[in-house]
Amino acid sequence: MKATSWLSTPVSLLAFAGLVLVGSSASLTGADAPKPDPEPPVVDPGPVGGPPSDAIVLFDGKDLSQFRGQRSPEPKWKLENGVMETTPQGGIFSKEEFGDCQLHVEWAAPSVVKGDGQGRGNSGVYLMGRYEIQVLDCYQNKTYPNGQCGAFYGHNPPLVNVCRKPGEWQAYDIIFHVPRKQADGTVKSGSFTVLQNGVLIQDHIPVGGEPTTAAPLKGLAEKGPLYLQDHGNPVCFRNVWIRPL
Ligand code: MG
Repeated sequence: MKATSWLSTPVSLLAFAGLVLVGSSASLTGADAPKPDPEPPVVDPGPVGGPPSDAIVLFDGKDLSQFRGQRSPEPKWKLENGVMETTPQGGIFSKEEFGDCQLHVEWAAPSVVKGDGQGRGNSGVYLMGRYEIQVLDCYQNKTYPNGQCGAFYGHNPPLVNVCRKPGEWQAYDIIFHVPRKQADGTVKSGSFTVLQNGVLIQDHIPVGGEPTTAAPLKGLAEKGPLYLQDHGNPVCFRNVWIRPL
């Protein structure tokens, strides 16, 4: 009896192992076999600061043809030396609308410092005309944290204040996902991730359905125009490009 059980156990194990091997090799060659990942497209990153080859260029210093005015069909901003500058005649909207996206914007507050708090170099980058990443000269200029430079205005302060001096060019790189209404009527939050001058200032912050106070557009939508704000202070912009995601 002892000899029989001694023999049967390893034989059973071998048979079981064989079945496992046959089973696993069969599934790897069948319809359930994992498909290889598609090869990612090749993108030329372009110069430092972009635009990469697959971006939609909204402003490259030549003209404002990709924008319309907030209060007039034509944008009323100044264009000089490859730079566009806010005027008191309202903000500008991109003609094209965007949803989930990666956005690059460079901006500069005036080198001659005027005003303080929210009155110094105030502008804004509004995704979908609704959700503002604040533009403000916060170099040695205090204001409330969720309204300072790089804040998701009224919602979330930046992680750090990484402002350059007034007059110096600064860059925002923004990854935005749209808040979306679900079938059951609830809103699934979108998100903001933002780098200012290469430094992380918003780390996957939820974007609910509520637009920034005084945003020019309201309500949930799948897409909307990029809006650059006139807040009564002269602020310059250059090198604006976007990649729909
Ligand atoms: Mg603003």
